[in-house]
Parts: sequence; structure tokens; C-alpha cells
Amino acid sequence: MINVAAASVGRQVTVREALQRIDAAAAGILLLVRPDGTFERTVTDGDLRRLLLAGATLDESLEKLAQIESLVLREGYTRQSALELMTTHGIDHLPVMDARGFAVRVIERRELDEQILLSTPHIGTAEREFVEEAFRTNWIAPLGPNVDAFEREMADWVGVPHAAALSSGTAAIHLALVMLDVGPGDIVLCSSLTFAASANPILYLSAVPVFVDSEPESWNMSPRALERALESLIAQGKRPKAIVIVNLYGQSADMDPLLELCRRYDVPVVEDAAESLGARYRDRSSGTFGLIGVFSFNGNKIITTSGGGMLVSADESLVKRARFLATQAREAELHYEHKVVGYNYRMSNILAGVGRGQVRVLADRIAARRRNFERYRQGLSDRTMLEWMPEPQWSFSNRWLSVATLARGYGMDVRTLIRRLAAEGIEARPVWKPMHLQPVFAGTAYFAHDGSVSQDFFDRGICLPSGTNMTESQQDRVIETLQQLLQ
Ligand SMILES: *Cc1c(COP(=O)(O)O)cnc(C)c1O
Repeated sequence: MINVAAASVGRQVTVREALQRIDAAAAGILLLVRPDGTFERTVTDGDLRRLLLAGATLDESLEKLAQIESLVLREGYTRQSALELMTTHGIDHLPVMDARGFAVRVIERRELDEQILLSTPHIGTAEREFVEEAFRTNWIAPLGPNVDAFEREMADWVGVPHAAALSSGTAAIHLALVMLDVGPGDIVLCSSLTFAASANPILYLSAVPVFVDSEPESWNMSPRALERALESLIAQGKRPKAIVIVNLYGQSADMDPLLELCRRYDVPVVEDAAESLGARYRDRSSGTFGLIGVFSFNGNKIITTSGGGMLVSADESLVKRARFLATQAREAELHYEHKVVGYNYRMSNILAGVGRGQVRVLADRIAARRRNFERYRQGLSDRTMLEWMPEPQWSFSNRWLSVATLARGYGMDVRTLIRRLAAEGIEARPVWKPMHLQPVFAGTAYFAHDGSVSQDFFDRGICLPSGTNMTESQQDRVIETLQQLLQ
């Protein structure tokens, strides 16, 4: 950052001094100020060179420097407007003036270029070794020792007996539903407030999704809405074949009452823990509550293999079946024998190497995500229009994303806020658009809590930059920008 005091000179200084100051400020520009300290114009080394070429000597003052009006920014400028001005005029610095005409800072193009993204991959130090080992031993093909080890290490980490490494979380959900024998016309219940990947596999199987609302305490599936859905469907003689319960933004759903309902009505549970790896419900890891649990290692998740997923279960036969179906359902014969439809869904040995490195930093990543959330909450504690996603007493969230809603009746729409953050180079996103509102699922049945909670979260929710490689100063920039925008 350019020091304004060090870069400011009056017209009485000599050209020589000005050149020395420009050198020392290492900024390429000086701020010419009037005797009263107000800003007059910027001076570049090109301006000084032209002065010399026009016949001035090094010992002359800057009196002959033309009086021009320099480009400046006024306080309250947006990053976007500053970048546009710099791009249009081909300049790299702009002074910012306050209402009294004093230069308060100089912004540089490179600080404007810095984008703070929602959630980016964060690679540790061990990943490369596992990947290099795969190269060294020529285990480039799918499967191999890294895959076996990654499955073991992940299963141990979350405390589940069996795990199958797959090409994506979506593939894991798809296989889970295949193994639960979901087929054309079958009903599958699913959380409405989620990413489309939770529900798309229902359509892959030509089954019929029925969406269930969230409850305000955890933002996840409402037991009350689920009870209504089950009662209504069973009264119509339509027992659901399966249910996909999603753990949103790193937080488990309220499993006890949900599982109790699923037991009562005999509906097997697929637990979509794609976002909640490392989180806990009471004393158990998220992802271990369903008959089948699903994790994702997509690039934006808490740990990543660049792309990948895992299917876990206490039932070994299910996990073995998943591995079989994921390798084209090839029978154990000398020739290629297939009795059922298979898929190409296994993880490659190279990506599993990345995963093995990532498991080793998972605890750090959870701590860092939780720290991000706490810094937001504390740094913005006086902005009461921000209502943070709660963490019920039974929950230990991994705080994958730091999420809040804007208070009802607050004067700014959440989409306006997101656009203003974008203009400052900060990527924020709305909360997931509920599946029952998505055109691809138009006409699907939906069971609300008391009033549509998921729609309300969608209307008012915002996900803030939450990556674990976001620096504290970057996060401070997000906090300061929010303080400016939320008055
Ligand atoms: C990311 C995600 C998935 C899908 O995982 P992929 O590995 O990207 O296929 C499924 N469900 C939820 C809730 C997710 O956030």
C-alpha cells in the first residue's frame, strides 16, 4: 500500500527531490499538494522527464508543472468503477479524495485485481507425494493402492466400517438409490433446500421426487414436514422407496426425530453429507446415520480431490455392491460377463492420492472454517441485520460456508448486497434455490414446515467467502466492505 504522506510533495520541491521521492515511494507516482494540504494533481516520472526535456533543470522547482485535473476517485467508489477508470485510461494508480479535497489513499490496480472467492481448493503438503508415488509405480489406471488406502483412511476418520471411493458425490447418490432398488415411478423423498445433485439421481432412475421443507433451527429437513409427507403419501398407498436427507452448509440435520420417522414408516435413508464431512450430530460423525452415507470431494468442498466422492455404510455388502456397480458391474469371469447394468464411477488412483493428503489436513480445515465463521460473527456483531445460521446444541458444524440471512424488513435485498460485494471483487452467493422451485422439478409435490422455510432462506440468505486459504486481511476486507454496505 502506498503511504500518502511519503508520496505527497508541494510545488516548492526541486525536480531532483521529486525524482528521489518517486524512487523512495516505490509507487511510480507522487501526489502534488497545495500549501493547505489539499490534493492538486498526480505527478509521474514521465511528467518529470517531460519537464526536463522542456528545458527545466534538476534544481528547479515544480512551479512550471502544468495545472491539470488528474483522475481521482471520491470516497464511496466501488472497486468496479475504479478498475474501469484504470482500464479506460491505462493507469495503475488512483488517488482517493475525501469530501474536503485531501488525498486519503492511493489505490493500485493489483489490489483491485484481487478477487476473494467463495470457496477454493486448499492443497496441503502430502498430496504431491501420494500422487508422485502413483506415477512412480505406474498406478495411473483407475483403482490401485491409493484408492484402497483413501477408503480406509476416510472410513477411520468418520468412524464408519466401510467406504467406496467414487468419481463424484452425485455418482454415490445415484448408486445408493440403485442399490435401494429405486426404479421408474417410485417415490423418493428429498430435502428441498439443497444443491441439485441431491435430487438429480432420482430423475436418472425415472423415479418421482417429493420435496420436504427445512426447519429454522438447523436449516435442514423439518421432522414436522417429513411426518406430514409420510402420512399423506402412505394414506395414498404410495410408500416412498427411499429418502435423501441432506446436511446443509456443514451442519447435520436433526437426525433423531427424522430417523425415528423413517423407521416407523420403513423408509431407507441415504444421508447426503457432501457438505458436512467432519461435522457431528451429538457424538457421531455426520454421514454415518443413513443406511448409506455420501461424501463429496468436489473442488469447492471442505477437502477435495478436484472431483470425487465416497459412499459409506456399516453394511459391508452394500459397499461391495457399490464397488461392483461402479466398475461396470463386471462379473468375476475370465471374459467380460455382465448380468446387470453397470457404471463407470470409480475414483482414479491419482485422485485418491490427492484425497489421502487431504484427509491429513481435514481437522485443520474444519478448525479454519469454524474460525472464519467466528471472525465474521464477531467482526459484524453490531450489524444485527445479519442473522447467522444457527448451530443447535446437538450440532458440531464444519461451517463449510459461513451463511447468514438478512433480517426481514431490512432495507436492502440480499441480491443487491451480493451484486455490491461483486463490484468490490468479493464473491458471495445466495443460499441454494429450493428444488421445489426449480424449473427442472416443476410440478413436484412439496411438503412445507409452517410456511415455506426453505423459500424464506433462499429469499434472504447469503453465503460469504469461506475458503480456508482466505487470509485474515482478505477476510477483514470482506468484513469492512459489509460494514460499509450494511448501515
Ligand atoms: C456437492 C454436493 C453434491 C454433489 O457432489 P459432487 O461430488 O459435486 O457430485 C451433492 N449434494 C450436495 C448437498 C452437495 O453440496
